Amino acid sequence: MDKQHENTDVLKCSNCGFVREILESRCPECGSLNSKLDDMLAREEAEREHKSLKGKVKIIWQAPDRKAELLHQLSLYKQTLPDNAMMVLVVIFVFIFALVISVM
Ligand SMILES: [Zn+2]
Repeated sequence: MDKQHENTDVLKCSNCGFVREILESRCPECGSLNSKLDDMLAREEAEREHKSLKGKVKIIWQAPDRKAELLHQLSLYKQTLPDNAMMVLVVIFVFIFALVISVM
């Protein structure tokens, strides 16, 4: 997707079409909320939670097969992190998983 075009879309009021120079959720021209910007912020928030450790634990917790999901999440981390950070995460995940097993 063309990033320049996408940015212009976000800056353009979805109600009156007024294009502003900075990102703000309310249009200075007609006062309507920018639904596109709100959508974007909501999506960003969801993505941030998804990427956080808390989000990961939530995904694993809600997965039908927790062990498989845990291994899947670990393999995803392996692609994005250096080896030493990976080791720390393995220890954390094993610890959390041991806790989950012990309360079941
Ligand atoms: Zn407007």
